[in-house]
Amino acid sequence: MDYQRIFAEAIDRLHAEGRYRVFIDILRNKGSFPNARCFAGHNGPKPITVWCSNDYLAMAQHPDVVAAMEEALHDVGAGSGGTRNIGGNTHYHVDLEAELADLHGKEAALLFTSGYISNEATLSTLGKLLPGCIIFSDELNHASMIAGIRNSGCEKRVFRHNDLAHLEALLAAEDADAPKLIAFESVYSMDGDVAPIAALCDLADKYGAITYLDEVHAVGMYGPRGGGISERDEVAGRVTVIEGTLGKAFGIMGGYIAADRNIVDVVRSYAPGFIFTTSLSPVLVAGALASVRHLKRSSAEREAQQAHAARLKAILAEAHLPVMPSTTHIVPLMVGCPVKAKRISDILLAEYGMYVQPINYPTVPRGTERLRFTPGPAHDEEMMRALAGALVEIWSRLELRLAA
Ligand SMILES: *Cc1c(COP(=O)(O)O)cnc(C)c1O
Repeated sequence: MDYQRIFAEAIDRLHAEGRYRVFIDILRNKGSFPNARCFAGHNGPKPITVWCSNDYLAMAQHPDVVAAMEEALHDVGAGSGGTRNIGGNTHYHVDLEAELADLHGKEAALLFTSGYISNEATLSTLGKLLPGCIIFSDELNHASMIAGIRNSGCEKRVFRHNDLAHLEALLAAEDADAPKLIAFESVYSMDGDVAPIAALCDLADKYGAITYLDEVHAVGMYGPRGGGISERDEVAGRVTVIEGTLGKAFGIMGGYIAADRNIVDVVRSYAPGFIFTTSLSPVLVAGALASVRHLKRSSAEREAQQAHAARLKAILAEAHLPVMPSTTHIVPLMVGCPVKAKRISDILLAEYGMYVQPINYPTVPRGTERLRFTPGPAHDEEMMRALAGALVEIWSRLELRLAA
């Protein structure tokens, strides 16, 4: 068996399709978000503007967050020293879970080392504990939910994206007595559209299902306290499990679920992805605690982000660039070809010092490759105009089609 040849051919296939992933080597500059240094060339780091960070509100550089992490580091040291069960249940973890339960108006919350693991561990565990459970999954659900559903061993039904009629047809086709779980997101981060959470909960009630909502791209950014779309739409109380990340708008790292005490207790007690791993560093948890607390009180970051996202969409549309009809802070620009998306991204970085990563299959379906901009509170009018100008020049250079 020629193992090396098989691996090399797998990589060659990615090159042939134009979707081999190249990571940009950067350091962000604390205090001057969204500026960073890029280490791509050979003549030292080059200044760039970052347009694709999921540190949506620049909380990773917020003075309160940095101070809380420095204090924790000096107070208790770097690591937690164990799993939650064996020595790693620090007081920071206990405080943050209480803070997150309160954020979502739930009885309890549970921390994981990432949002990916929170989805995988929770869905697989709930599915295994419910005999004969059928899981209904939005077709655009994140890879981590898909992994959790697969690992649950449950029957799975995929409904068309945000399509209530299709979901209802699938629900109605099953045994009325079978346990059912509906899994979906609030903000879909590649298109920037939003799920009809209340209507999905209505269907769940009608067919006796529980609901699982991934609010990863909404926590910190929507709702009066940053509780996500479910808080904004006042439906958090109807959702069985709310899942979120500490790695995007909260600016740190880690994931969590919030739910009633019983559900949190079974996941805590049965999920291997929670049990058999070292708990998050108390330094990270202290930073997340400061970030969640800040965004509960302050809406300035959310408001600036929304204003800048709306402004960038308007500027790109005025320039006839094919901006997609997002209703959120996500600003996707359709390209439709992996090779061209990479080429645009390469030119933006090399010639204009603007960094946006091309988004390819399997993150998005083939033929819908795109650039995805995430303007935040610190992307100003001048930066946005410069970006639009660069894109218009590149669009014409590569003979790409403009919108009508
Ligand atoms: C990023 C992401 C996750 C995973 O969260 P991490 O904390 O980065 O592991 C889960 N769900 C969705 C929809 C995501 O975009």
